[in-house]
Amino acid sequence: MVTSAPGHEITGEAVENGMDGRVGGQGRADRRDEAVRAAVEQGLLGPGTPIVGLLDVTGIREAASELRTAFDAVVAPGTPVLHAFAVKASPLVPVLRLLHREGIGAEVASPGELALARAAGIPPSRTVLDSPAKTPAELREALALGIAVNADNPQELDRIDALMRSATSRSPLGIRVNPQVGGGSIEALSTATATSKFGVALRDEGAREWVVRAYADRPWLTRLHAHTGSQGIPLSLMAQGVAETYALAEEINRRLGRRQIDTLDIGGGLPVNFGSDETTPTYAQYARLLGEAVPGLFSGRYGLVTEFGRSLLAKHGTVVARVEYAKSAGGRPVAVTHAGVQVATRTVYAPSAWPLRIAAYDGKGRPKDGPGVVQDVAGPACFAGDLLAEGRTLPLLEQGDYAAALDTGAYYFAHHYAYNSLARPGIYGFAPDGSGGVAFATVREPQSVDEIVAESGGAHAGSLTTLLAPDRR
Ligand SMILES: *Cc1c(COP(=O)(O)O)cnc(C)c1O
Repeated sequence: MVTSAPGHEITGEAVENGMDGRVGGQGRADRRDEAVRAAVEQGLLGPGTPIVGLLDVTGIREAASELRTAFDAVVAPGTPVLHAFAVKASPLVPVLRLLHREGIGAEVASPGELALARAAGIPPSRTVLDSPAKTPAELREALALGIAVNADNPQELDRIDALMRSATSRSPLGIRVNPQVGGGSIEALSTATATSKFGVALRDEGAREWVVRAYADRPWLTRLHAHTGSQGIPLSLMAQGVAETYALAEEINRRLGRRQIDTLDIGGGLPVNFGSDETTPTYAQYARLLGEAVPGLFSGRYGLVTEFGRSLLAKHGTVVARVEYAKSAGGRPVAVTHAGVQVATRTVYAPSAWPLRIAAYDGKGRPKDGPGVVQDVAGPACFAGDLLAEGRTLPLLEQGDYAAALDTGAYYFAHHYAYNSLARPGIYGFAPDGSGGVAFATVREPQSVDEIVAESGGAHAGSLTTLLAPDRR
C-alpha cells in the first residue's frame, strides 16, 4: 500500500511505481523519510552527531528474498544454489548475520573479510574465497576450514597443489577465468577486459588449453568461476561472460569424459540504478536473461554460486548529514555538510561515474519542499573537490537542515576514507517498532576521537624522535 509521510506528497509517478509491480519505489522512500525523522527525534542525529549511516532492514530482507526467488524460479528443481554476498560491498558483521538469516552466504576476498563472515556465524560451507592475492597462509586456512576457493592464476594453483598433497580438504575448488568479453562504462570496475588483473585470461594464447589440462590433472577441481563485471556493465555483456564460462565447463567435461565440473560460480555485478527509488534491473530480469542466453545453465546439471554485492545493499543505505553552514560563493549557494569524501569517496573523486541522489530534510528530519535552487552540497574535508553534488537543483538547504545521500548502502559509508582524520560515522539499522514508529539498532558505533589517536600511532608518539637519539633510547 502506498502511504504518505506527513509533509511529503505522493506524486503520480510514485503511485505508479507502487502499482505496476516494479521493485522498490514509494514504500522504500517512505521508510527512509520516516527513519530520518525518527533518527532526529530519537537523538541519533543532531548537532553533536552530525552524520549517521542508516540501513533499511526491511529493504535488505526484501532484496535477499528477491534474489532467492528470482533464481528459484528459473533453476531445475533440486539444483544446489548458493548466493554468496560479496562482503566487500558491506563489510559489517550484523549485515552479514542478517543476510545469513535470509539464506545468503558470503564471498570473501581477504583475511579481514573471512574473519567478518566467521564472526557473523556464516559456516564454511556457505563461504567462498576469491582474491587475486591469496597468501599460502590464507589458502591453508581456507582449505582447513573447508571453504570454497577459486584459484586466480597458475601460481596460486601450484600452492593449492602443494596443500592438497599434504592434507585432505573438503573445500570445493575451482579456477577463476576471465572471459575477456570487454568492459563497461566504468573502467575501474570492468573485470573482463583483455588486460584485467583477475583470473586466467581465457583468450590469451594457450590459456584455454592450460585450463583444460589443469582440470584433467586435478580431479578435485570441480568448479569454474567468472565475475564479468560490476556497475557500468550492460546485462548482455554479463550474460555473455556467463555463456563463455558455461561453454568452457561443457568443453572440459566433454573432453575429460566425465562431469568433473559440477558447479558454476557466475559472480555478481548486477548494476544498480542510482537515478531513482526503483530497483532496475531486477534479479528476476537477470535470471530470465541468463536462462535465455545460456540454455543449459539452469538445467540442473550444474550447481550455482552467485556473488552479488552492490545490488543487495546499495538501495537500502542512506547517509544523513547535518548542514553545518549554508553560504554562497560566486552567486551559488553552498551547503557545507558533514558528509563528503570520507563516506562517498568514489562520488567525490569520480563524480560523473558515481552521481548520488541527494534528499533535503529540515532540522526536524522532515522532507523539505520548496522551489528547486541550484546549489552545491559540500563535505567537511579540506580540499575544494569535496562535493557530494555540484550544481544540483534541490529545495534550498539551510543551516541546521539535513542532506541525505541516497543509495549508499554498498561501497559508501562502510568504506571509510580517513581523510582529515574524520571519524567513521555510526551506522544504525532501522525497522518498524511494531507500534507505528521506527526502531533502531546499532550496526557500528561511531569512531571516537580517542580511537582515531590510537589508530594513528598514539601509542608510539615518541618513536621517531627516539630513533633520532639512539643514546637516549
Ligand atoms: C566485487 C566482486 C563481486 C561483487 O560485485 P558487485 O558489483 O558488488 O555485485 C563478486 N565477485 C567478485 C569476485 C568480486 O570481486
